[in-house]
Amino acid sequence: MRFASRMSKLPPIPTLAMNTKAAEMKAQGVDVISFAAGEPDFDTPEHIKEGAIQGLRDGATKYTAVRGIPALREAISDWAEEHKGLRYDPKTEVIVTVGGKQSVFNALHVLVEEGDEVVIPAPIWVAYEPVATLTGAKPVLVQTSEENGHKMTAEQLREVVSARTKIVVINSPCNPSGCVYSREELEAIAEVVLSTGAMVMSDEIYGKITYDGEEHVSMAGFSDEMKARTLVLDGFSKTYAMTGWRLGYTLARPEIIEAMDTLQGQSTSNATSFAQYGGVAALRGSHEFLDGWVAQYDARRKAIVEGLNSIEGLSVVNPKGAFYAFPRVSEIFGRQGPDGVLKNSMDVGLYLLEHAHCAGVPGAGFGNDNYVRFSYATSLENVKEGIERIRAAVGQLG
Ligand SMILES: *Cc1c(COP(=O)(O)O)cnc(C)c1O
Repeated sequence: MRFASRMSKLPPIPTLAMNTKAAEMKAQGVDVISFAAGEPDFDTPEHIKEGAIQGLRDGATKYTAVRGIPALREAISDWAEEHKGLRYDPKTEVIVTVGGKQSVFNALHVLVEEGDEVVIPAPIWVAYEPVATLTGAKPVLVQTSEENGHKMTAEQLREVVSARTKIVVINSPCNPSGCVYSREELEAIAEVVLSTGAMVMSDEIYGKITYDGEEHVSMAGFSDEMKARTLVLDGFSKTYAMTGWRLGYTLARPEIIEAMDTLQGQSTSNATSFAQYGGVAALRGSHEFLDGWVAQYDARRKAIVEGLNSIEGLSVVNPKGAFYAFPRVSEIFGRQGPDGVLKNSMDVGLYLLEHAHCAGVPGAGFGNDNYVRFSYATSLENVKEGIERIRAAVGQLG
């Protein structure tokens, strides 16, 4: 079968081999601890489910406006004002998408094409680079350093921007490194952006999950000019444990929202009608549960960071947000396992799966092969047991 040539621009999802193997092992009865999931281990709070159920009962079973029901866009607008200090017009500056992922896909598709460049600090989440490539634009990966906490510096950005730069991606708190950019760091980056014609795609999906008093800052709040140059991407998956609901949104100036609306109108149309009512309940309802969740993530974060750093050959920069630890594993490259020498993050991932029965995600898919991502959106008990298994497996390497 001959596929459209655009498909050759989309590489197979790199985590697939690992996930398939982990599923096989589980099916055979092996007690695999999964640190691979990119989603909260908590259930969606009851009052949010009720919102969706009530919506269904009230007859919310029909098409809605492509960009979402007014009640949800108003709730998003109010929430952004309360939590980010940003005001967006619910009629013209908000679009509800089928998950945050559709926001990334649609925003890049309406803004960039062949000849454009998209600056992406690495390591970073798996969607930006492939989707930028799919549009025909050129992704420009900027390798960050551990010394700078996996964050891109303004100087690094200055070195890569040009007249071709259309978008600069910022994901803070970051998946997979957990880094959180400070106000000063973002201000320096904004200054570089403003010296070019570029826009910022600010993925703020982990904005409510931070530790050690770290605070999430949105570049859109710096000035009217920065607000006009920024697309704020957010959603419900991580904050409210709603990954399966497929609900996200973009905040941006009206002509961008209009273009995204046109594109979405030819693909999915609106996000699921009653899911949107759940979204209203999430944003309007109590956020008390979140403190408890973040406290639990934090306890696991401390255990996993301390544990990983105590294993010879592994080291991790302390994550300040999201729910991932991203240890460097390259020091164990070259060591001998039963199936051969470990050469890259995939080899390490497969070795730990087979011999520690722990599943992580190789860093290659996040733009840096020297690391493996471990999600601590799993019980503290699993974290502790997993660390001991990993310690034993790494200790057995030749
Ligand atoms: C999970 C995630 C998203 C969006 O996920 P959806 O489920 O599509 O809303 C966006 N960005 C990052 C960095 C993520 O980790």
